[in-house]
Amino acid sequence: MKKKSNYRYTLRLAIDKSIYDDDKKNDMIDFIKNAHINDVAFLLNQEELSDSHITLEKAKELVTDIDEIAQPLKKMGVTISLNPWTTMNHSDRGLGIRPELDIKPMVNYQGIKSTSMACPGYHGWMEYVSDIYAVYAGIKPHELWIEDDFRHYKNAPFELSCFCDDHMKKYNAIAGTDLSREEFVGQMLNGGENKYRDAYLEVARDEILKAAHMIEQKVHQVSPETTLGLMSSWPEIHAMENRDWHALLDTLSGETTPAVSRPHLPAYNEVSPLKYARDFEKYTVATRALVGDKHKIYPELENFLYSQYAKSTRFSQFQLETTSSVRADGLLMNLFSMMGIGIDKTYQYDKMLDQSKKFADYLYENGISLEDRDGIIVPMTQKVAKYKVTDGTLHSLMASQTQWLELLSVFGFATKPVNYTGQQIQNETVALTGNFLNTLSDSQITDLIQNNYVLLDGDAVIVLDSRKLLKLINADSIEVTQPRTGHQVYEQFDNATLAGVTKSRISMQTHIGAYVNIHYLTDMTADSNAYNRYGEKLGPATVANDNFYIMPLTEHAKYEWEAEYIDYRERDLKERVNVAHLVDMYNCKAIFNDRKILISNWSLDDVDGINFKLEKNITKLSITYRVGSEVKNQIVNVTKQDDIYHADFPVPGLAVVLVECLE
Ligand SMILES: [Zn+2]
Repeated sequence: MKKKSNYRYTLRLAIDKSIYDDDKKNDMIDFIKNAHINDVAFLLNQEELSDSHITLEKAKELVTDIDEIAQPLKKMGVTISLNPWTTMNHSDRGLGIRPELDIKPMVNYQGIKSTSMACPGYHGWMEYVSDIYAVYAGIKPHELWIEDDFRHYKNAPFELSCFCDDHMKKYNAIAGTDLSREEFVGQMLNGGENKYRDAYLEVARDEILKAAHMIEQKVHQVSPETTLGLMSSWPEIHAMENRDWHALLDTLSGETTPAVSRPHLPAYNEVSPLKYARDFEKYTVATRALVGDKHKIYPELENFLYSQYAKSTRFSQFQLETTSSVRADGLLMNLFSMMGIGIDKTYQYDKMLDQSKKFADYLYENGISLEDRDGIIVPMTQKVAKYKVTDGTLHSLMASQTQWLELLSVFGFATKPVNYTGQQIQNETVALTGNFLNTLSDSQITDLIQNNYVLLDGDAVIVLDSRKLLKLINADSIEVTQPRTGHQVYEQFDNATLAGVTKSRISMQTHIGAYVNIHYLTDMTADSNAYNRYGEKLGPATVANDNFYIMPLTEHAKYEWEAEYIDYRERDLKERVNVAHLVDMYNCKAIFNDRKILISNWSLDDVDGINFKLEKNITKLSITYRVGSEVKNQIVNVTKQDDIYHADFPVPGLAVVLVECLE
């Protein structure tokens, strides 16, 4: 479906009034004009200039200053938004809580008391934070943002909260126990679903919703036209506080102002685009899937420490243009120092933003929404932490459900992430991770596997074993062996030639988790087998048939699935899984919708042609791309060989192109 409005540029900007002068004012106005900034979100009480929890009087002073600074921008038609930097607070920085404020300190799961972060269950803090938001609403901002410190999980080493004495009483009352903090946390982090964890999750979810409701009520009483925005972090840490994304965003919505969301773009500094390609699926795409399509999203372009030494302009531009992958409504950009100095012209971000503007608008107008994607369904659920099987550590409560999404997207498969709420999925190809499968009932698992073509990882097979459902994959027992234990060292594709290589191998020793040796009930022809150091066959590895594709490896706690990012896995999947995909285009992703393909190259290498498999009759491609600041279009003929379409059209490294397949 076409989108009507344009892609929005929001500049997050820190101004310190004590050093603000006419030069800074002119630089700001020039930048906003040249860069086509539509909206400025002024930071308040931020980072180096943060004074922890400020008084309402101080808040009034800050917004009055901003209101004055913003006047010339308003005259230019720029909307003015506010980004207060503190709700509970991000981390301790040596400042305490003002005694005149009715705020109690947060306590973490180890009993460590914070000096400045607020206990989110304490009514005094809820009153305070909602009152101060009403003060911010006083200047009628276009959007009023809630920072991503609005969560129970804090940056290391503090991590999960709140376990203060009042919270312990609440948890114990719900669980019907009288445990110490240490005993309670020990129970909560051990094994699968339990009443201790349930008590924590229930309280955490409800108090966030309660605080959000109070903020919404007081803000909209002062300024009904202000839209509230929610900034967020990693989906798996929000899962640990039982975040109900829909309920939270609905709670923050006013009658005519649906709340908006700012998902995290996972590269505060420049990283390898190959790494960014995976993290983008894990954080940004997953958040968008969980948020749903009722709320606009403006992902976060954050260039922390703020200069070309933190991130090249080309990488920032790539981050901007690839937000088309989630069809973002715009971008929230943190490009300049947070210390209030204003614009640094030498960075020349205005040129970059000018260059991308028309193309970003085009991709937004003509792109593909997540809900309209075709391809392999990757279901996920916000309830994942409730059921996660843990080993007593906090880290084990973090549950990623995106391993398949990352791998398949980077391999160029059409993928469709789905927020699973119990809906029927039939006659589809579905990729199932262990963490997701573990949240389902036995009958839901049975339906999913029997009614679809499924991809399963080792963790999913372990769940099948624990539920006594191995018969669904024609097996009756498994044996799990950890890597680096003198057993499996590689998987070998014994009967196939992949990428021109016979007996190709993938490491089972390093950068991958355990090997799940599956005992099948009848003879199954394995695509590959597991071997030890002496070339002795240990058992089947990859097994695929008409119903499933099993990659029997678990996630490594640190390296996840890194060993699987290799062309033998890619090619074996493409032989077995009959879903639209790119061919011979390393690190290019493709989003498919009917005859449309959004192709993005997440590497530094150019690709010299577009090759893909799609079950449609195609003679030409209409390809739209950017050259400088211009949006160009070319019609290119295609050839077809062995079911693969080819067009002579190069896709440069870090480029995005939109393809329409013509009959
Ligand atoms: Zn507390």
